[in-house]
Amino acid sequence: MIRYSCDLCKRELSSQNDLRYVVKMEIYAAFDPAAVNADEEDRDHLEEIQDILEGLEDSASEEIGDDVYQQLRFDLCPECRRKFIKNPLGRKPAKAFGFSSN
Ligand SMILES: [Zn+2]
Repeated sequence: MIRYSCDLCKRELSSQNDLRYVVKMEIYAAFDPAAVNADEEDRDHLEEIQDILEGLEDSASEEIGDDVYQQLRFDLCPECRRKFIKNPLGRKPAKAFGFSSN
């Protein structure tokens, strides 16, 4: 039996009693299609990334690949899922911004 635990609070999630939520994140460099290829403006960004990634696979430069495209996956318990939805980017609470000098 596969055991899951919440990636945030590390609580163990039993498949029978606990709902488990999977968070998938895709982070990729947003190329301007016009800059990449002016003739194919309608091309999907992801396709561009795909092409670049395929090129990178050959050149064995994995570090550069991470800069261009990254996919993350997390398991969350219902509680942490609620927290995550409220603040997916881990920003500071609103009151920390306020009218502070900036
Ligand atoms: Zn949790």
